[in-house]
Amino acid sequence: MTSFDSRRDRLRHLLKEKSLDALLVTEERNVTYLTGFTGDSSYLIVGQSPTGKRELLLTDHRYTEQLESECPGLELAVRGPGVKQADFTVDTLTKLKLPSLGVEADTMSVGMFEKLHEKLSATKLARTENLVESLREIKDEGEIGEIREAIRIAEQAFAVIRNSLRHGRSEKEVADELEYQIRLFGGTCGAFPSIVGVGPRAALPHGRPVRESKIGDHGFVLIDWGARGRLYHSDLTRVLTTAKLLPRQKIEPKLQEVYGVVLAAQRAAIDAIRPGAIMKNVDAAARNVIDRGGFGKNFGHSLGHGIGLAVHEQPRLAPDQDRQLAAGMVVTVEPGIYLPGWGGVRIEDDVLVTEDGCEVLTSVPKELEACAV
Ligand code: ZN
Ligand code: ZN
Repeated sequence: MTSFDSRRDRLRHLLKEKSLDALLVTEERNVTYLTGFTGDSSYLIVGQSPTGKRELLLTDHRYTEQLESECPGLELAVRGPGVKQADFTVDTLTKLKLPSLGVEADTMSVGMFEKLHEKLSATKLARTENLVESLREIKDEGEIGEIREAIRIAEQAFAVIRNSLRHGRSEKEVADELEYQIRLFGGTCGAFPSIVGVGPRAALPHGRPVRESKIGDHGFVLIDWGARGRLYHSDLTRVLTTAKLLPRQKIEPKLQEVYGVVLAAQRAAIDAIRPGAIMKNVDAAARNVIDRGGFGKNFGHSLGHGIGLAVHEQPRLAPDQDRQLAAGMVVTVEPGIYLPGWGGVRIEDDVLVTEDGCEVLTSVPKELEACAV
């Protein structure tokens, strides 16, 4: 049995619990997770009834050759040229005569849902949430290996960038160079457009790098980057101090203070990560340190998120999450303090929950002294 077979079996188990005969998987990454197929514009029907078709991939002619090598043995329904995907899906489902069908409410378009609702009069449609996503939370060895590879690529690219930082290079140049290095080191592309924020621009948690803002100004730069390896992602953030790039510049005391609080908060959260730990308590471990440091209102986002086939996926380390961490989850831990007009500090690592605690998968040094360029 391949890992894809066992993933589909676990999904069938969830469908059984919900008394659903089948699920129409429309979310691209969920299709990849369940089949290994890396193309797009294809839907998967997974059925659990012993008499009906157990799985069927709805695709088009562009992908038939790729599917033969990526998913040998998987039953295909191939739509012809000019046939709309929605119409083809309706036709295929009509022939299957399923008594009930789950749809992925978070990602299916309203248009598609309405069409199914209108045409599939014999099938009871049920909105589902997080079925495949809940399976994706727990990574197997192969997935953890792919995440490790995405981290290796990101870290090697960062080391090159770090050595190339000079006064006057723009945020945009650095971000573009990072993307290029990620690809040179074997990545498919960046996990997302890198954030490179100098001084006050580091206060924008998702700021876009610009040409006008230069490395060396304001004494520090925040870089949030990651790589997409084959299919899996990494996601890191470091603040580099750039005082040495200019004569007579020193690290300012404010940066030392803020950095120290964020680093202590991040370490407290990592210490709290183990199987069974409540997610909101891990968030609180960091948040309490930042509160005590006097910056509670300057940490406006949640502590972290799962990474995998998506850069942001379940679970979330956030104040409203009552669930428990489990071995095999991979999460980011990324507390930050943002002071408008001055700047921001965020430190982000990728952490695997293990049987007896956790392993920090990322290894870029994070002591402030080690972050000087
Ligand atoms: Zn990030
Ligand atoms: Zn992140």
